[in-house]
Amino acid sequence: MTDKYAVIGNPIAHSKSPLIHHAFAEQFGHDIEYTAELIPIEALEAGLDTLQKKGFKGLNVTVPFKEQVWQSLSKKSIHATTASAVNTITFNSDGSRYGDNTDGIGLCQDLTQNHHIDLAGKRILLLGAGGAARGVILPLLSYKPAELIIANRTISKAHHLVNLFDNEVLSASELEQVPGPFDIIINATSASLNGEIPPIPDSSVSAHTNCYDMMYGTADTAFIQWAKTRTAAKTINGFGMLVEQAAESYRIWRGVKPQTQNIIKHLRY
Ligand code: NDP
Repeated sequence: MTDKYAVIGNPIAHSKSPLIHHAFAEQFGHDIEYTAELIPIEALEAGLDTLQKKGFKGLNVTVPFKEQVWQSLSKKSIHATTASAVNTITFNSDGSRYGDNTDGIGLCQDLTQNHHIDLAGKRILLLGAGGAARGVILPLLSYKPAELIIANRTISKAHHLVNLFDNEVLSASELEQVPGPFDIIINATSASLNGEIPPIPDSSVSAHTNCYDMMYGTADTAFIQWAKTRTAAKTINGFGMLVEQAAESYRIWRGVKPQTQNIIKHLRY
């Protein structure tokens, strides 16, 4: 029998997750159907109930439901708990629901495995303090960076995250005052959505700095363009992170981890 999965969000028509998951299933000869389901903004719970009753085995969750799903689930992984967001739901055979968050693992896999960027002992700047930033802090810390500086437009949110994670390598900074240069800069703001760049000093980037924008698209984001003009060592967009977080969701649901390299190469914008 075909196992059913879906990504839920609003809007959702643009999602590449069905393509990615069908490519994973092909690798193993698994019989799955993965769809994109539009859920009305005010009807998350009803949407989850309907999909569970229809026999779906798992869901990916995207904007704007990640935090709301986190609130609605009682059983969650440590990654979901610390991120305050769920991007992967498993519907168990006993009717229970389990929430996980694979975004942070996806980012770290893309950086370390696909781009061979070592995180241990490095000075890392994380731009933003929203859901995406919060979700990657614990996985980044597990690689033992020398420093992880969180800089955000609303500085109180950066301080809040530093207090929450309470780790000696973590600190908060105003965007304009980040003490560069850094080995790695990760843009987890949504500034690129509006063609904007967080106002960090040019001195944040040196010739050995790797710059990562979680946002992806057909053209270079504003942040990637800026990093290129600063002659960063490498610029990377978040498409690899998208595929890697999907691979981790697939592993959670089906117990096997798909190969991602070819999919990233062929589906990349
Ligand atoms: P949130 O809305 O939770 O947070 C947005 C963050 O961006 C806040 O820190 C906000 O600062 C900051 N920000 C917004 N506009 C600007 C600006 N003009 N200048 C400086 N800072 C700004 O969004 P998410 O955390 O959920 O998502 C962030 C980005 O990450 C999005 O682009 C999203 O597409 C991407 N993403 C990519 C994934 C992938 O798989 N590749 C997975 C998850 C997210 P303030 O607090 O001051 O408002």
